[in-house]
Amino acid sequence: HAPRTFRDLLENSRFQGEKVFLIYEDERITYEEHFRRAATLARRLVEDYGVRTGDRVALAMRNYPEWVVAFSAILAAGAVAVPLNAWWTGQELAYGLADSGASLLIADAERAARAAEADGPGIPVIVARGPGANLAEVMGEVRADVTLPPVDLGPDDPATIFYTSGTTGRSKGALGTHRNLGQAPMTVAYAMMRATLLAGKDPAETASAKRVTLLAVPLFHVTGCFAVLIPTIFTGGTLALMYKWDAERALRTIERERVTALAGVPTNAWQLLAHPALERHDISSLTSISYGGAPAPPKLLERITELLPGRAPANGYGMTETTALAVYNCGADYAARPDSIGLPLAVNDVKICDPGGAELPPGEVGELCIRGPIVISGYWNRPEATAQTFVDGWLHTGDLARVDEEGFVYIVDRAKDMVIRGGENVYCAEVEAALFEHPGVDDVAVIGVPHDELGEEVGAVVRRAPDSAVSADELRDFVRERLAGFKVPATVWFLEEELPRNPGGKILKTALRRRVLGS
Ligand code: ATP
Ligand code: MG
Repeated sequence: HAPRTFRDLLENSRFQGEKVFLIYEDERITYEEHFRRAATLARRLVEDYGVRTGDRVALAMRNYPEWVVAFSAILAAGAVAVPLNAWWTGQELAYGLADSGASLLIADAERAARAAEADGPGIPVIVARGPGANLAEVMGEVRADVTLPPVDLGPDDPATIFYTSGTTGRSKGALGTHRNLGQAPMTVAYAMMRATLLAGKDPAETASAKRVTLLAVPLFHVTGCFAVLIPTIFTGGTLALMYKWDAERALRTIERERVTALAGVPTNAWQLLAHPALERHDISSLTSISYGGAPAPPKLLERITELLPGRAPANGYGMTETTALAVYNCGADYAARPDSIGLPLAVNDVKICDPGGAELPPGEVGELCIRGPIVISGYWNRPEATAQTFVDGWLHTGDLARVDEEGFVYIVDRAKDMVIRGGENVYCAEVEAALFEHPGVDDVAVIGVPHDELGEEVGAVVRRAPDSAVSADELRDFVRERLAGFKVPATVWFLEEELPRNPGGKILKTALRRRVLGS
């Protein structure tokens, strides 16, 4: 059954004993060791720092094992973990600390220094790793007979505040409960079983306790935490962490640790496939490649199938507000519908709505809405945004989508990522997908370009494949063969360098627009 709070999950995990839980470079942390450290820190938080149920404790770190220990300790102490984006500047960290009202910060030395810029965090800081680290001192003796501190905590108490990626505006704090967290691994376990069965593989082989997952993305986003870390703890698997994503290092780690699953965003899979060292490494242990969090062009599936046959690729859709994975495509389903995000998982419902909130029939494009136990109940401190986004138990995702007769969901675009050209809607994602099909295109982003007469015109920013000299006219002709004339980009810019993306693999269109349009 689902754990009632994270504490159940943590206590169950202790039965894994000397099984390796975390791998970080040459460090190994067993389940027993992790439990002892987390329980010890939880006790210090309660007994020495006065942390009480519902207090917010912020976390600002790279993917070090200490992130996991601190996260576990905060939740076990009954407090609310507030993972802050490790890429944030001092000012952005200050925003996260002030917005969440955190009373304590656990950070690595680099982020602790960043948070100390300007006026300083104004709250106690525990430095978990790096120069000046005092975590070991704070923890004191880690005893073999340590138990979790007694706290009064129920499934509907808040557990986490994760900040959204800030793609469409300022990052919002998504307040998740222990019930949301407890449901996430059930959803993921169901997805993994489905992927195994649809790929025609032996379910015992994917038995999650045997899984060794390489995490390509940060723990401070829900994909890393709720689609990977929490399911790993739940099932007793092993998790390999990286300081930061690096395709070559990933290849070496997969070979050395006999990694069975790679989990990240589409960009990670692309970079792994494109790496010249791919052939030099024995990565036969890798059976599952899953990605999500950003659109995955069908070309990615094609490349995986071609270069790494027999692997089970999977595309997952989720949001910070859905505690990660909500809709999932894998196996024969994915092969047959490479442009779909698949079927809603387990106990979740989806529907497509018009702007007035009325449900639309299959085939029509509208806003994707999701309901279920993984959907959080609201944003922290933002009653207005909460009221707009969470209506009668349904989460309004802000993504435009359609559902086919069989229930497969297709993301059309973000509601805010549409170009309105002379009153005609152009979905950027559709034009991007068409351009992606051209072999000379390595990466592409479509943006709206202000136009006096039409309001907006379609523009494309393209990064060519290394050996390609494709021209703007050729690309326009290519799109014209596939899409209606009004969707053909009026302007095509070529960039030499990589398109600006956030660590979640999403193209930063505001930055890109500024770059090519200067506005
Ligand atoms: P903000 O809400 O702050 O603007 P964000 O929506 O990017 O930022 P996240 O919660 O990290 O923050 O991302 C969720 C969004 O990512 C979804 O609404 C959707 O647009 C996109 N997304 C997630 N998974 C997929 C996928 N598999 N395919 C296409 N898009 C996806
Ligand atoms: Mg969002």
